[in-house]
Amino acid sequence: MKSFNPDEFRNHFRCFSTSETLGIYLDNAATTQIPDEVLQALASYYSSGRSNVHRSSYPLANKLTQQFEQARTIVAQWLNGSARGVIWTSGTTDGLNRLADGLRGHFKSEQTILVSALEHHANLVPWQQLCVKDNLTLRIIPTTETGDIDYAAYQQLLQIHNVAVVCCCHVSNSLGVCNDVQEITRLAHQHGALAIIDGAQAVAHLDIDLQLIDCDAYLFSGHKVYAPTGIGAIVGQTHFLEQLQPCRFGGEMVKKVTYQDATFRELPYRLEPGTPNIDGVLALSAAIRFLSAHQEGKQAYEQQLLAYCESQLHQIKELTILAHPKHRCGVISFVVNHVHPFDIADWLNNQQISVRCGFHCAMPITEQWAHQGSLRISLAAYNTFYEIDQFIESLKQAIDINL
Ligand code: PMP
Repeated sequence: MKSFNPDEFRNHFRCFSTSETLGIYLDNAATTQIPDEVLQALASYYSSGRSNVHRSSYPLANKLTQQFEQARTIVAQWLNGSARGVIWTSGTTDGLNRLADGLRGHFKSEQTILVSALEHHANLVPWQQLCVKDNLTLRIIPTTETGDIDYAAYQQLLQIHNVAVVCCCHVSNSLGVCNDVQEITRLAHQHGALAIIDGAQAVAHLDIDLQLIDCDAYLFSGHKVYAPTGIGAIVGQTHFLEQLQPCRFGGEMVKKVTYQDATFRELPYRLEPGTPNIDGVLALSAAIRFLSAHQEGKQAYEQQLLAYCESQLHQIKELTILAHPKHRCGVISFVVNHVHPFDIADWLNNQQISVRCGFHCAMPITEQWAHQGSLRISLAAYNTFYEIDQFIESLKQAIDINL
């Protein structure tokens, strides 16, 4: 069995040896760096002649169409979903908006949409908007004092209300809480509700098995999994996706068009009008191939690194870690008592240690834990123990200066 070699993994990311400004990068929940394999996929698309896909039949167009469609299979195999259920999006935000728009008019007025308290704005605001437009009720699944989903409260909400959809993240980008999305989905389905899972913070870290999770749709963004910005996917169950109203219209998604009317193609094309993000799709499949080749032992390494970082943070008495979930993944949020997070972030960033501070596009939950926002570090498999030591050292200096 080949074990994970962090140095070898990191060597695929030339930015760490060429960039003068990158430094210690601990903002991977915002976006990850790009390995050489993905750069090569992009360069190859642009330097060997490009064409559109699905339109023409000359050899280059045929070859690229084949690679483009093969990418659906690569995503489907990676997550153990169905290739026909892979719909390209520009990212998780786009995907969630398209689901909420595609479900317009689908539910009876006064049905409920349940959204967990942990959600990023991308998995909250589109559902708020759907509720306003279709006169539905939005309710929030609360969390416990550890930051985990309150499963008893969730079950109660399902029992009391007529729930149409449950929306929940696999991993919270603000607190790092990893949710039991299989159980969340099981309970949703038991009560006749759809289950939509935001996988944006999970796919880079966890082995995902959509056959097990069984949700109706799972979403992610390429740029959080070593691929470029502007590409992502909805990976859905085909019987669910077939119920969605197309809400964007144009070329390639249609079967027949007259001046008066149009009929739409089968999945996945009916939900993908216009020229797709071809280079993004090819680069995403290169990123997944790269990740799959480094899968063995990667998760264990990331967990060790995260646990080490958390234990080091624990030893700093002026600091409070937000949330102590049963399972943490990728992210640690904290505050330094009596110091504004911006002041600490400023110091760290000036030492070329990239962290994020603020509300992390998840304002309601972050505000519950830290009314001025938090500092957040988020790890990737190319981060090292040495980098964590450097970060902790600098953080202690920042605390000394600011207290
Ligand atoms: N959900 C979660 C949990 C996220 O972390 C993010 C990105 N921070 C999003 C959704 C939105 O992703 P994107 O900006 O790539 O559309």
